[in-house]
Order: sequence, then structure tokens, then C-alpha cells
Amino acid sequence: MILQARGLVRSYGATPALRGVTLGLAEGEILAVTGPSGCGKSTLIHCLAGILRPDAGEVLYLGQRVDTLSEAARSKLRRGAFGVLFQFGQLVAELTAAENVALPLMLAGTGRREARTAALSWLERLGVAELADQRPGEVSGGQQQRVALARALVTEPRVLFADEPTGALDTLAGEQVLGHLVRLAREQGTTVVLVTHEPRIAGYADRELTLRDGVIDATGMGLTDKAVGA
Ligand code: ADP
Ligand code: ADP
Repeated sequence: MILQARGLVRSYGATPALRGVTLGLAEGEILAVTGPSGCGKSTLIHCLAGILRPDAGEVLYLGQRVDTLSEAARSKLRRGAFGVLFQFGQLVAELTAAENVALPLMLAGTGRREARTAALSWLERLGVAELADQRPGEVSGGQQQRVALARALVTEPRVLFADEPTGALDTLAGEQVLGHLVRLAREQGTTVVLVTHEPRIAGYADRELTLRDGVIDATGMGLTDKAVGA
């Protein structure tokens, strides 16, 4: 198991969001987390990625606790072994596509030229090489999200956390981004946690885990049961 969660509980004030979630991911696995709005998907992926601390329970990456790490250590993890991609790619508006993709490498100390070369190569792999010198505001939402995916993958994370990565896109653009995400994850052996409220999208994953009211919904079973016995 590359990533495990045991008994995750998280509330916002009096509102319970997670009420005891246990799961495990094998290296290279693509897990879709589905369920209706408000069931706890975002809270779960934020806990797994070390963005949010659970009130109870544990998150382990390669057997090491993530949830007990300091904020600084968790943010370091997110610049290294973990990659994150959100609904709106949150590209830096003032920077070109290539600069956006190069940014995580430069923050990690890679030289400008080497970072640019890597960024161009990732833009190419995502079919948006021609956008290298354009700014986010000059390209479509689907193109922006492909640039954001390049930026999430340029550091070659071992786990990619994608929270509704196609939520702001039309069907075709969404399919393209997901197609790239799945293909590149397979090529790199990247483990993926993909949150979506669209059941169709879950078809891209190896396994689907459905949440309902903050717990894993076992009524649908099917592939879901494998996720429970982590
Ligand atoms: P999903 O991603 O499945 O829509 P969330 O994890 O965003 O679910 O939310 C789970 C529950 O927690 C919902 O009832 C939601 O309203 C609540 N919630 C999420 N974030 C907050 C917050 N920052 N403050 C208060 N309640 C929140
Ligand atoms: P998602 O599309 O991931 O389900 P939401 O619309 O549930 O996103 O939440 C968007 C943002 O608003 C998140 O940061 C979440 O934590 C916050 N949020 C969600 N529900 C509430 C709530 N009831 N009160 C305050 N903040 C919330």
C-alpha cells in the first residue's frame, strides 16, 4: 500500500463531513471517489493529501503518518511526492503556460533553463506545446486544465490528488483532460485519487469508492468492497 487511511473522522463545527473512512491504495492504482454533493469527497481528498487534518484517524504514506506532520512538512510533501490538481487549475495569471509548469521545479531549486526544458516537454506530452508562451487568460478552460495537469505532474509525484479536475469543463474537454491524466499516470506508474460526482468519469479508474454521508457506501458493492479492507 502506498497510501492508507484508517478511521478518518472530520467535522466542520457541528457538521460531520467524514464519519470513519478506511481505505488503501496500491502503487499505480487509480481510485475514483464518487458520491453526491456534500458526502465528504473533498474533505477526504484534502485529508489524504495532507491539506486538512482529520479530527481522528490516520493517513499513512508508505507506512508513515502524514496527518501528524507539521504544516511545513506536509507542504513539502505536496511539493514532492504528492501532486494536486483542483477544479480550477489555479494557474498564475501573470505567467505563461511554460512558466506556470516550470514554477514547481524552480521552487524546488531546479535552474531556470532545466525547468523550462522539462516544462516544455510536459506541455508537449499534454498536447499543448503551442501554448507555451501564452498566458492562462488567452487559452480555453480545457487547455488551462491541461497546463495545470502538466504543472501537477512536472515534479513526477508518486501520488496525484485530483479534486473534480474536469468539473469546470464541458464534456469533450473534460474527457480529454481525463484521458491525458489516466494515460500519463499509467506511463509514470503514478497512483491517483480522483474525486468526481460524475459516475461516468469513474469508468476511467481501476476502482470506485462511493461515499454517502461521510462513510463508504457498501450498498452498491461491486468494486467498492475492495476499498474497505485496507
Ligand atoms: P463533497 O466534496 O462531497 O461535496 P465536502 O467534503 O465538500 O463534500 O463536504 C462534506 C460536508 O461538510 C458537507 O455537509 C459540507 O457542507 C460540509 N463542509 C465542507 N466544507 C465546509 C466548511 N469549510 N465549513 C463548513 N462546512 C463544510
Ligand atoms: P466541491 O465541488 O468540492 O463539493 P463545495 O462546493 O462543496 O466543493 O465546496 C467549495 C468550498 O466551500 C470548499 O472549500 C469547502 O470546504 C467550502 N464549503 C463547502 N460547504 C461549506 C459550508 N457548508 N460552509 C462553509 N464552507 C463550505
